[in-house]
Amino acid sequence: MRQFKIKPLETFLMNDQPFTCPHCGSRCEQIADFYHTNAKTFIQECLNKKCKFICNEEEDEYFLKLWGVI
Ligand SMILES: [Zn+2]
Repeated sequence: MRQFKIKPLETFLMNDQPFTCPHCGSRCEQIADFYHTNAKTFIQECLNKKCKFICNEEEDEYFLKLWGVI
C-alpha cells in the first residue's frame, strides 16, 4: 500500500456552501474522500491553476467532539 506522504494540511470546517479556496476564493474539487474513515475528512484542491491549494475539509461536529464540547 502506498503511503500518503503529504505535509500536514490546513483544516477547514465544512459548511452548507460549496467549499471554496480560503486563499483565492475559487471553487475546489474534492480529490479524496476519507469521510467514512476515522478521519472524517475530505481533501479539497483549488481549481485555480495558479493556486492549487490543497487542504482538509472536516465536519464541524467532529471537531466539537474532538474538543470535548459535545
Ligand atoms: Zn485557491
